[in-house]
Amino acid sequence: MATDIFSDFGNLGLGDLAQGDLFAEPEREEVKKAPAVVKEVVQLGEKDLLFDKSYTCPVCENAFKNKTIRTGKNRLMRIERDLRQVYTPVDQVKYDVVACPICGYAALTRYFNNPTRMQIENVRKQICVNYRPQIWGEEYYTYEDAKLRFQLALANAKAKMAKSSEKAYLCLKMAWIMRGERDVLDRNSPDYKQIKTENEALEKSFLKNALEGFVLARQKEGYPMCGMDEPTTDYLLAALAFEVGDYQTASKMVSTVLLSHSASSHIKDKTRELKDEIVETVKKMAVH
Ligand SMILES: [Zn+2]
Repeated sequence: MATDIFSDFGNLGLGDLAQGDLFAEPEREEVKKAPAVVKEVVQLGEKDLLFDKSYTCPVCENAFKNKTIRTGKNRLMRIERDLRQVYTPVDQVKYDVVACPICGYAALTRYFNNPTRMQIENVRKQICVNYRPQIWGEEYYTYEDAKLRFQLALANAKAKMAKSSEKAYLCLKMAWIMRGERDVLDRNSPDYKQIKTENEALEKSFLKNALEGFVLARQKEGYPMCGMDEPTTDYLLAALAFEVGDYQTASKMVSTVLLSHSASSHIKDKTRELKDEIVETVKKMAVH
């Protein structure tokens, strides 16, 4: 089963970084997997919603361009339980990693510009010297491109020993990438069922890692966390725990939000909805 969240590190020349746990020092065993070949249903017009944004890499100091979504042209359709924002026609999350094509430094947009001196040193030692340059989509990024770019950002986050919240947020967005890809899988492909099952397993792995990271971050870091206030972070923890079947943690975090004096009525409403879902799910489990 493809549940290895570092599956593409090898293809990026960064196989060594696939060793070990994302959040802790002790090492875990590594399972490697070749990327699944997926025929994607191409969203027409995607390239028209993009532009090339200029960056200067804080690690190698070269200038480069990165595909970016034009704001205002993409429409928000809905917000899912774990706060994934679903846009149409373009899945914006695909464009949320900025990657230097020259040295391999990559991060989520919000973290790209300000690595510390120590982090830059670690990226140079562990990423830049081994990085195998990639060619990303000329006109737009496919999910394969996006997955590789996120893997590169994850390798960088490990190398630079990013805060738990940054790594958790990356894992959360990688789960969203898997979900987005699932929507455009070719249902007529003979491998559809297998690819879908692998995709779902990988999404779960990313959600589990996101939960683990946010739990650690909540103990050690302050707010705002990844742009979220405390009640929103706690709601997200509840939602992630629910997604991975940890109903005890989910219920605990739901209570924390509902008792919070600083939670907005919007986040309390979402939390009540989640509470109903938890109660419903646990009730069903008791019956079976
Ligand atoms: Zn660079």
